[in-house]
Amino acid sequence: MTPSPGAVQTALAGALPAIEIAGPGRAELRDATEAHGLCGHADALALPRSAEEVAAVLAWCYEHDVALTPRGGGTGFAGGAVPLQGGIVLDLRRMDRVRSLDPALWRAEVEAGVTTATLRRRARENGLLFAPDPGAAEQSQIGGNIATNAGGPHTFKYGATGAWVTGLEAVLAPGEIVRLGGAMRKDVAGYDLRSLLVGSEGTLGIVTAAWLRLIPAPARAYPVLALYPDARAGTAAVRGILAAGVEASAIEYLDNATMALIGGGCPAAFDATLDATDSFAVLAEVDGDEETALRARGDLLEALGDAWEAYAPTAPEEIGALWRWRAGIPYAVQAKRGGKLSEDIVVPLDRLEEAIVGALEIGTRHSLDACSWGHAGDGNLHATMLVNPADRKEVGRAESAAKDLFELASGLGGSISGEHGLGTVKSGHLGMQWENRALDLHEGVKRLFDPKGLLNPGTKAAR
Ligand SMILES: Cc1cc2nc3c(=O)[nH]c(=O)nc-3n(C[C@H](O)[C@H](O)[C@H](O)COP(=O)(O)OP(=O)(O)OC[C@H]3O[C@@H](n4cnc5c(N)ncnc54)[C@H](O)[C@@H]3O)c2cc1C
Repeated sequence: MTPSPGAVQTALAGALPAIEIAGPGRAELRDATEAHGLCGHADALALPRSAEEVAAVLAWCYEHDVALTPRGGGTGFAGGAVPLQGGIVLDLRRMDRVRSLDPALWRAEVEAGVTTATLRRRARENGLLFAPDPGAAEQSQIGGNIATNAGGPHTFKYGATGAWVTGLEAVLAPGEIVRLGGAMRKDVAGYDLRSLLVGSEGTLGIVTAAWLRLIPAPARAYPVLALYPDARAGTAAVRGILAAGVEASAIEYLDNATMALIGGGCPAAFDATLDATDSFAVLAEVDGDEETALRARGDLLEALGDAWEAYAPTAPEEIGALWRWRAGIPYAVQAKRGGKLSEDIVVPLDRLEEAIVGALEIGTRHSLDACSWGHAGDGNLHATMLVNPADRKEVGRAESAAKDLFELASGLGGSISGEHGLGTVKSGHLGMQWENRALDLHEGVKRLFDPKGLLNPGTKAAR
């Protein structure tokens, strides 16, 4: 029998006295999707320290028909960690051990609650690289990155999180610990259940640990920030990098509207007569050993030769300042009006210009200030509508604009999400890009893993 909402915390704490159970605070009911005004409700917060404890909580939920929402760092942009249907928030922050890191074998085994920054630091200290670099790295967790298959600027060369996962330890309904893959680098023995869990947004199981691939860290990385008059010239430059055969590690862009908002803070030393805030920016990087990276830098500068101007720092502190400026875009843009709705649509690379221009037109149609930036090499936009979160009418218009952005992306042969997933805010929209048969399979997979529908209900629904 389902306990009444008030009784859930007491019953759970009574049944599982060894596990830390608390009342959820304001922070545990939200994620980075703040401007939607999304705030969930939950009956209890569970803070397990081991896979066994996670299994015990899920088993209790299955026995009592109580919903469970897994939570990592809460940096998701799709409302996936927001418990909209009550129940228990399962917070993985206490599972933060690096179980092993073998520098000589280029691999690590880490618990789900290890933050992105911690793992990247630990790898770097050992001369290695864990490449996935979503923003908010100090807060986001490996489990959350796996659950969203998070990307980042360097996904262009190195792939999204899933490309680094060789094995998962997960808790599946009705409360069993299952290992899929492991420390081996290849495994094609069964269906690829590991990849099915990657990007499943906490709807199929709870990731408790992962075996990850690492690579030797490139000795040098050289970025170039090039300015163009508009999206046409800027996106042509992006294609030009590929056509020239330059193996860039990252190719990012900031459209004219974004540069107008934040270009003033750009640390690049441009010609004083050039107004960077009136430009379209392409930020690309090459890496490798000293000789390779320097040669590639030359090739990159040549490929970007039509730019108004290009800034190509080589000093580590200047390079660091440039990437910090890039990482600060979401915060700086948000600060302009207090809020923003950002949709991570993705299109084939040859449709990028249409998507960037289209996003601005959608903003105009809905009387909103719009801008976009993102991972140009992957055709991935962060198409953004600026809002005052207190103005619910404006937020409503931005939500309508988001639907138009999804139409735009699918109309251009792309997808409604390149990085953040469907979460709760895009749940039910998959039909815009998938045929019915595929939607049926999506629902069938969910039923197979979670027959009672208790794992993160309302998230990543196909219809
Ligand atoms: C400033 C900023 C910049 C960002 N830049 C990028 C970017 O460049 N690329 C990108 O891809 N994303 C980006 N993001 C989005 C976000 O950081 C990533 O999606 C991140 O991977 C989410 O991790 P998290 O631990 O915060 O997960 P949460 O937000 O806590 O959860 C996200 C989803 O994963 C599920 N989940 C969390 N942990 C687990 C687990 N252990 N097992 C099962 N399910 C789980 C949750 O239920 C939820 O559905 C950015 C966010 C911010 C705030």
